[in-house]
Amino acid sequence: SSRLARLRSRLSGGMGSALLAIFSRGSLSADDWEELEETLLAADVGAASTEALLDDLRARLKATPDAEPYALLREALLAVVDPGLDRSLDLAPADGVPATAVVVGVNGVGKTTTVGKLARVLVAEGRTVVLGAADTFRAAAADQLETWGARVGVPVVRSDRDGADPASVAFEAAQKGRDDGADVVLVDTAGRLQNKAGLMDELGKIVRVVSKVSPPREVLLVLDATTGQNGLTQARVFGEVAPLTGIVLTKLDGTARGGIVVAVQRELGVPVKFIGLGEGEDDLAPFDAAQFVDGILG
Ligand code: GDP
Repeated sequence: SSRLARLRSRLSGGMGSALLAIFSRGSLSADDWEELEETLLAADVGAASTEALLDDLRARLKATPDAEPYALLREALLAVVDPGLDRSLDLAPADGVPATAVVVGVNGVGKTTTVGKLARVLVAEGRTVVLGAADTFRAAAADQLETWGARVGVPVVRSDRDGADPASVAFEAAQKGRDDGADVVLVDTAGRLQNKAGLMDELGKIVRVVSKVSPPREVLLVLDATTGQNGLTQARVFGEVAPLTGIVLTKLDGTARGGIVVAVQRELGVPVKFIGLGEGEDDLAPFDAAQFVDGILG
């Protein structure tokens, strides 16, 4: 599809052409290995993962010296991009109780947009959805979520007041989901990292009250691919509130530095479940490791 073509050209434009240039020289010199390392680091693969990848590649070259080095690079990349994590979205309703999901992340990464797009994916699968606008700090966030709700055709629970208790909005959304017999409740949250303790308290409370209706089956962390290694720090901080079940990596349409996929999965063991490829309602795709690697290699 066109968005995958866009992703492919984006990713390959950076890391891919650099890698191809290195491998087209034939056998790899010490300088080539160094350049390979720099290319991976520049793409946000991260120091530890880059080292592991290069060690793996060296081992593969040694084990099968006659194989095409670029093909071995593809295998080594695939091994590091797909560490065997479960990427399925666990949002089937059980016993008439809706499955709940809480979407977290710092401001501006694309949380509200992702909640809207995810609702669209679920509705397209025939599921009924209720959205909760628990980012009550920013009035515009609830307006934005309402716009998405109208676009996708799902109800949005919000507060009329700025600064209302986010947990009570989340609880009302979960209750409405249960009362309406909805399949899924998606809760959007605020992400002010400036006050880390306050944010953690707030998110912890949201998870607790939603659990009174149905313990969150998914706690999805939204990361902006363009912010690179900051994503790792964010994932560690949010992971302290509730075990993260998945990552949505947004704005991959705007960067050639998709290597953060490797770093978060390998270092935190949290699967990337979806990628954001634009601002439109159809610009959310399940993460596919092979497609991603082919996108990098062009
Ligand atoms: P929030 O503060 O985390 O809720 O972030 P928003 O959902 O408000 O998104 C912030 C900005 O990023 C908005 O302008 C979105 O349209 C944009 N955005 C979100 N996801 C994507 C994406 O995958 N690609 C691009 N290009 N823009 C995105």
